[in-house]
Amino acid sequence: MKTKDRTGAMKVIIVGGVAGGASCAARLRRLDEKAEIIMVERGPYVSYANCGLPYHIGGVIEKESSLLVASEKTFREQFAVDCRTSCEAINISPDKKTVELRNVATGEVTTESYDKLVLSPGAASIRPPLPGIDLPGIFQVRTVPDARAICEWIEKGSLFLSGMDKYSGFQTVRPKTRAVVIGGGFIGLETAENLVHRGFDVTLVEMGDQILAPLDPEMARIVEGYVEKHGIRLALNDGVSGFKQAANGALEVQTKSGKAHPADIVILALGVRPDTALAKMAGLEIGERGGIRVDDQMRTSNPDIFAVGDAIEVKDFVTGEWSLVALAGPANRQGRIAADVIAGRDSSFRGTQGTSIIGLFGGAAAWTGASEKTLKRIGDKDYEKIYLYPNSHAGYYPGARPIAMKVLFRKSDGRLLGAQALGEDMVDKRISALAIALQMGATIYDLEEVEMCYAPPFGSAKDPVNFAGMIAADILRDDMPISHWDSVGKGFILDVREPVELAVENVPGAVNIPLGQLRARLGELPRDREILVVCRSGQRAYSATRVLLQNGFKARNISGGMLSRYHAFLLEN
Ligand SMILES: Cc1cc2nc3c(=O)[nH]c(=O)nc-3n(C[C@H](O)[C@H](O)[C@H](O)COP(=O)(O)OP(=O)(O)OC[C@H]3O[C@@H](n4cnc5c(N)ncnc54)[C@H](O)[C@@H]3O)c2cc1C
Repeated sequence: MKTKDRTGAMKVIIVGGVAGGASCAARLRRLDEKAEIIMVERGPYVSYANCGLPYHIGGVIEKESSLLVASEKTFREQFAVDCRTSCEAINISPDKKTVELRNVATGEVTTESYDKLVLSPGAASIRPPLPGIDLPGIFQVRTVPDARAICEWIEKGSLFLSGMDKYSGFQTVRPKTRAVVIGGGFIGLETAENLVHRGFDVTLVEMGDQILAPLDPEMARIVEGYVEKHGIRLALNDGVSGFKQAANGALEVQTKSGKAHPADIVILALGVRPDTALAKMAGLEIGERGGIRVDDQMRTSNPDIFAVGDAIEVKDFVTGEWSLVALAGPANRQGRIAADVIAGRDSSFRGTQGTSIIGLFGGAAAWTGASEKTLKRIGDKDYEKIYLYPNSHAGYYPGARPIAMKVLFRKSDGRLLGAQALGEDMVDKRISALAIALQMGATIYDLEEVEMCYAPPFGSAKDPVNFAGMIAADILRDDMPISHWDSVGKGFILDVREPVELAVENVPGAVNIPLGQLRARLGELPRDREILVVCRSGQRAYSATRVLLQNGFKARNISGGMLSRYHAFLLEN
């Protein structure tokens, strides 16, 4: 067994050399020049950009080498970290404080002692034991070798895949190659988009009733329509039951509903499961969600063993529940925190809000904090929601695009709880701003006052973030009671749009009085009934609601107007 070679120096072993592990190693070296740091990685690369893999498959990131952020050599030379690739930790003896390491190439097993051990083994792709799952042509997107195998399959097999190997001399149209992606999370969708870019005819099969599970369903419906418009065929509510190789060599993805999707390539993106094998061997506490349980300083149930990244359970910042979050940002921060704590600093993890973004065909969907379905699941009734559709920047400056936003906040104190946004321009900026606000414990009254940068190409003097705060604060101050389409029922609906707009789409049974005529026609409205006011986006209805309230009527603005009615329509259909 090797012993400490730096007398008196702390010896730290880090298992896993990518997001959490690599940031832990680099941070620890910056804090402790004397520590002996060994970082072991079972794969061939450390610190690679797995987030870039779908874009490499699509050819957007052309060179595989661009994905390799820092090499084994960088860690050895710049950080004096004993970095070992193709080296797997196979056993931990917490009593002896040792780890057994296996050289993946030679099979040789050595034992190393540690003072502190950090586990950052990540998560394993879910691969259910379905019939035919090991057939050639079925891939997952997890590592650089996975992406390379997919690229090779596509490149080498392109003649075969498209049927051109049987070229008769009379074919004029090259048949499209077909891909079936299984799983509608962000890895599945990003890979599906990239396969569309490579000319594949893509079907995405998803067992759930929506793609992008963290989104509320009415927001996900919009993304679904958008990706379908761009060529991804969605098969929702259908689980895969098995895979078959057809007589012509092509694959067939069979589903529980009895469908068969032909495929030249299949991508499995069924989600991930925390890799807890080593933790279990070491007798560490595993939480109810199946991840390694740690405290807010990333310490496991054994005080000399830390764990970070996809393998651990984290506290949800909004709900306080234990959750599994497989995201690079939290993994990097946790790696850094573990290093801080090992070096004697008092850092702690604040929990995660699951802040995420996915880019698809030029658009983006992003979210932070709790969704409405999460709040409903935990029985939280002290929340309100708003829908708004502001422009990404000043409408008079070319290129402005609407952003569909949903913002959730506490009814009792206005605290921001979560936000979701979809659009084709600057969605990230708004959700990032809201994510910071949420982590700072901001209220919607704070959002009213937030100072965002503004010039016409970048925003509006009232940024969408301010706008969200103003609308929500109007509700809580009782300046603008609101309603939602799902509770409109047989209420009295006043439509304050212009008649020309009604010709495009109207609300059956609604009374139409354009906003400009409202003050003169108040006598046409009932005083004994609540009036639900609608316009296109809620803005004119807000003014109309104010007119009505100040004239003694009972009135509510239907949040998001006709635009949010579209959400309700999508959900019903
Ligand atoms: C295709 C793809 C796209 C993604 N896109 C995004 C994105 O856009 N945004 C985002 O926030 N997140 C994204 N993620 C998720 C993000 O990459 C992970 O959350 C993050 O890498 C987790 O870091 P980690 O250190 O916990 O695990 P990983 O980065 O997965 O690293 C774990 C490493 O540990 C090694 N290992 C495991 N067990 C052992 C052992 N016993 N011995 C030695 N080594 C071991 C593994 O080989 C692996 O390399 C994406 C992930 C994938 C796969």
